[in-house]
Amino acid sequence: MISNDQFYQTLRLRFGFDSFRPGQLEALTSLASGQNTLAVLPTGAGKTLIYELYGAVTHQLVLVVSPLISLMQDQVISLNVRGEKRAAALTSQMSRSEHQWVVNHLKFYRYLFVSPEMLSQPQVLAAVKAVKPGLLVVDEAHCISTWGPDFRPEYLLLGQIRHQLGDPLTLMTTATATNRVKADIKRKMQLSKAAEIIQPVDRPNIFLDVERFEAADDKDARLVELVSELRTPGVIYFSSKKKANEMAELLNAKTSCRVAAYHADLDAETRFKVQQQFMQDQLDVICATSAFGMGIDKNNIRFVIHYHLPGDLESYWQEIGRAGRDGQQSVAILLYLSGDEQLSQFLSDATVPQDDEISYYFKHQPQENSAEKANLIWFYKQHGYREEQIKLAFTKRREQRALALSQLMTYVRIPTCKRAFIQGYF
Ligand code: ADP
Repeated sequence: MISNDQFYQTLRLRFGFDSFRPGQLEALTSLASGQNTLAVLPTGAGKTLIYELYGAVTHQLVLVVSPLISLMQDQVISLNVRGEKRAAALTSQMSRSEHQWVVNHLKFYRYLFVSPEMLSQPQVLAAVKAVKPGLLVVDEAHCISTWGPDFRPEYLLLGQIRHQLGDPLTLMTTATATNRVKADIKRKMQLSKAAEIIQPVDRPNIFLDVERFEAADDKDARLVELVSELRTPGVIYFSSKKKANEMAELLNAKTSCRVAAYHADLDAETRFKVQQQFMQDQLDVICATSAFGMGIDKNNIRFVIHYHLPGDLESYWQEIGRAGRDGQQSVAILLYLSGDEQLSQFLSDATVPQDDEISYYFKHQPQENSAEKANLIWFYKQHGYREEQIKLAFTKRREQRALALSQLMTYVRIPTCKRAFIQGYF
């Protein structure tokens, strides 16, 4: 068994840090004792260090399943910068020959980053199995939970894939700490006995506030005022791309801040440019949809404003958690206009199909311009789910969305301490 001394030595020599952050050593010792481990640590707590260090100490392949190509690439670069060249991401953006080279030379790698879809390709799965990974990491593990804010159906394959790989030691990491998400992660990974390492989610340096409005104009005017007055950099979240564009334009005109929009309708190049400029303080404010954020490692964000209601309290906590990673005072303000919950309801209806839609999409293969729902249902069908099961799953999903919205509205309306309410919730 690996001793704590070994972990400390490697921390100093390879990573240049003197001490572990809360939760890191606990997770490492849990893994070293052979326990599958669920690490619930707040954003910015240093989850990546856990598996990077584990790989450095054990000299075995660490296989990291990650939801986003940009996240994987960031991590490969950061490992490379630290002198660890044996890191690669297998992505759909690689050429055939690059892909083949990595697959053929897996035993030379210490860290391999993949998406769940990539890992489920038979050729990739067989190659990974042949090198016997020492650790399987499911990063952003809340993506596997239908209760989680970033649910991704592709993640549902992972429990099965883990068995096909011969049940390797597994680390699941997330910042989402509700009991039902935790239980769901374990259930879907088929790891009911996993050890849990949990750090409290409180972020005392983020001031929480909700402002309520009766007229849309008042809300817009207040946003302009806040952006003029608050310290930047800051992020403003919208649930509509159109509104994000409009307000970016308005704020550029009415304040001295440099503002840009960020959402899925922009091409990849523009998104990359906006992200880079924001990282380098060449932009002060981003008007974003929830597409912005996962993997953003900018530690001096001073405010996060929500112009529309977030998806649920978990997403809210994750999105505002991007503020104040440097520990400095920051603010999170939710601007609520009476009736905003109808927009949330509308968006939820648009993504969660009804029974008759499910029957239709179950029989018709999606076309290029089909709704997201069509792809989702086809995905389930391809993976052996029956029509009735899909209907049941979405009925449950609808109930969950309704519950999440009512919890959010309680947060908006509660006159007492917002922080105490969120603490209670988690
Ligand atoms: P998370 O994935 O939990 O959001 P990261 O793994 O990106 O957080 O880590 C956030 C930052 O903290 C990184 O810049 C990382 O280098 C730093 N960090 C991690 N562990 C330590 C440590 N023990 N001491 C000092 N800094 C650390």
